[in-house]
Amino acid sequence: MRAVILGAGTSIPARGYSPAGVYVQIAKEHVLLDAGAGSLQRLQRVSAQWDQLDRIFLTHFHVDHSLDLVSILAALRLPPVQRKKPLYVYGPPGLKRLYRQFNAAYDDRLSPRGYRVVFRELQRATQHLPGYTVHTYPMNHYATKAIGYRLTQGRKTLAYSGDTDVCDNASALGQGAEVFILECSVRDDLKFEGHLTPSECGQIAARARCRHLVLSHFYPVFKGYDIRARVRRHYPGRLTLARDFTRLIIS
Ligand SMILES: [Zn+2]
Ligand SMILES: [Zn+2]
Repeated sequence: MRAVILGAGTSIPARGYSPAGVYVQIAKEHVLLDAGAGSLQRLQRVSAQWDQLDRIFLTHFHVDHSLDLVSILAALRLPPVQRKKPLYVYGPPGLKRLYRQFNAAYDDRLSPRGYRVVFRELQRATQHLPGYTVHTYPMNHYATKAIGYRLTQGRKTLAYSGDTDVCDNASALGQGAEVFILECSVRDDLKFEGHLTPSECGQIAARARCRHLVLSHFYPVFKGYDIRARVRRHYPGRLTLARDFTRLIIS
């Protein structure tokens, strides 16, 4: 299993920190976790076969995680793309409504042509997919029904939190994972509800006992701030601070 961070940031523009997205190759499938603005362009930039995406897993519908669902559906129906296989799109409850509203806003120009789109709304669930399994866990992110995803192929697991505040499910999501991509939004001294700080990330990762913690979703507030030192007080394992295009091998 391989992954590339397509966006290590948020809705606020920052060099090297684009809105959220992770491209994953797992079993024989091409998968996208979240689809923040520009994800489609960055898929192309990492030479991913964007028109062959099998599944898109959205954690929630904030703009920095969902806007490029529009770009992808719009691109897939254009004549040069000869797509036949279905596209499966997963997300928390409200996904189908989001699609209807997007499609209405764009005069029905997101409706698939020549292929099918299947929407699946999930909360706590297990999906058995070709060659791998996906477990979803509700996260703690304002009043949204945000979910985190745990992709397991054989004995190897990649976990991805999307946005969350502290909760037991966050550590359950990353339990023993080879790679745990966890949101880290703001400094300890700027803590705001709905998101995590480096110290909280360290505590969650320590409880999860993940093998490799990858922090992402950075607001541009960390200049000169020692993120690693805060995480290290709690979590001794391997640690990566993501940027756009950070590559991960899950083995
Ligand atoms: Zn959010
Ligand atoms: Zn976000």
